[in-house]
Amino acid sequence: MLKGIGVSEGYGIGRAAAAVMPEIKYVPKTDCDSKSERLRFENALKIFTDNNSELAEQVSRTVGQKESEIILGHIMMMQDPYMRSEIEKSIDKGNCAEAALDSVCNTFIAMFSAVDDEMTKQRAADIEDIRTEILSILTGVKRVDLSKLDKDTVIVARELTPSMTACINKENVVGIITETGSKTSHAAILARAMEIPAVLSVENALEQIKHGDEVIVDGVTGTVIVSPSDKEKNVYISKRDEYIERRSRLREFVGRPTCTADGRRVELLGNIGTPQEAEKVISQDGEGIGLFRTEFLFMDRSAAPDENEQLEAYKKVLLTMKGKQVIIRTLDIGGDKDIPYLGLEKEENPFLGFRAIRYCLGHEEIFDTQLRALVRASSYGNLSVMIPLVTGTEEFRSVKKKVVEIMQEFDTSNIPYDKNLKLGVMIETPSAAIIADLLAKEADFFSIGTNDLTGYTLAVDRGNANVAYLYSVFSPAVLRTIKHVITEAKKANIPVGMCGEAAADPLLIPLLISFGLDEYSVSASSVLSTRREISRWTKEQADEIADKIMSLETENSIVEQLKKTVLSI
Ligand code: PEP
Ligand code: MG
Repeated sequence: MLKGIGVSEGYGIGRAAAAVMPEIKYVPKTDCDSKSERLRFENALKIFTDNNSELAEQVSRTVGQKESEIILGHIMMMQDPYMRSEIEKSIDKGNCAEAALDSVCNTFIAMFSAVDDEMTKQRAADIEDIRTEILSILTGVKRVDLSKLDKDTVIVARELTPSMTACINKENVVGIITETGSKTSHAAILARAMEIPAVLSVENALEQIKHGDEVIVDGVTGTVIVSPSDKEKNVYISKRDEYIERRSRLREFVGRPTCTADGRRVELLGNIGTPQEAEKVISQDGEGIGLFRTEFLFMDRSAAPDENEQLEAYKKVLLTMKGKQVIIRTLDIGGDKDIPYLGLEKEENPFLGFRAIRYCLGHEEIFDTQLRALVRASSYGNLSVMIPLVTGTEEFRSVKKKVVEIMQEFDTSNIPYDKNLKLGVMIETPSAAIIADLLAKEADFFSIGTNDLTGYTLAVDRGNANVAYLYSVFSPAVLRTIKHVITEAKKANIPVGMCGEAAADPLLIPLLISFGLDEYSVSASSVLSTRREISRWTKEQADEIADKIMSLETENSIVEQLKKTVLSI
């Protein structure tokens, strides 16, 4: 069994085809006639542009408009005047077209690879792809053609470039395995869009999997099985068939309102970590964003994003969601989320330490910048802002005061913003839950963060395997806490949502319906299954289940009872 990163869900069973790029060789020349080399370069560029325009059109038809933009982006990069003039200058010095292209691309690749940011690194990969393509045109070396593979093929490659991936005929390819790449690489985005199971970053895949080997690609767990036994194969055939069946049944829920079986409407939103993921929420028919974890904007880089960069990221999400509700959470660092350049001190108990809102209120330069970017972004859509790890009323009042001051400053300098910008509290500490009545007087809305709330309520570190057996949202203490928070929000007449993982749990959903939860915010891939689960219950049925469950005394009996009731219907 080989391990990698599962980047596109699903199960593929087929025969491996090694997609090995032929080596492109040329003899660098330094005494060329620059006129004819320029002409060769122009001709190759024209062929490159024509091929890619055609490919982009095909991708737009068969995969999607957004995915075709990756290919169009390659054409645009090669039209960049600076890049072209650098290549031409090199040709004018007597270099052959191949050498000129190679050296200029190398400079850009080195420049982009040095930046510690996924997106910029991706640009280096794009330029590498472009260089190989144009070099293969100049030298006449044929590239691997992935458009004509046999049925049930699993592609195995060192790396899949966007141009290679875009050529894939998805009717014939049942899986993708590569030695490089991550969840955010373009090949991963295309694989997900084409719904082909994919496992990337499998070490030495090309050595361990031979051309023609039978392989299983498990895009859910990121595993690959080479030459499976009959038993393994049968297990995966059932998994694959069930998965396909489940997905196709779920698509029936696209375009439907999210409501209970007796027609009570609730909101179904998506959780995201990057602005790009908002598209995924839309593709799964999410009705807005219930949690944007902004700390990801601060990760994998060497300095905090400034106000303008943050504004662009928030604006992107708001514009993508076109007026639908977007809840952005302020920086939630500390605990298990470290950002090296912020110089967080090592603490004995980081989960009880200087994290989230505590850190933000102690670092005004960082927090004020984020709040300013958020208030500015509010004029581009329907924005709400929420504050993580609140424990007391003072903390939330301090945030409100800051926001009011920023708004006053913007009024004076005529900077537009939404005067109805809503400010909410994440309920993820027992303290916040216990004083929910007090916080409800201050906040425009609540969002229950069950991931942390469960840990803090039960005094269990959510990442510690030794005590994982205690970590359960179904413990009576956590269930009572959730019910209490929802009840207090209802009394104060403010909306209450849930953005922790538990919001998508089929066993919890009937209880949430009964308690009266208004908003469910779940990962994009759980949007449709959550809509289906909500549609299964009437309020009366949910109340009956909740009454029984809330009378039970142990986590075990609660889970048993829920499994019996919920899963058997
Ligand atoms: C939570 O704690 O439930 C939550 C949504 O926040 P995070 O998982 O980012 O801590
Ligand atoms: Mg949390």
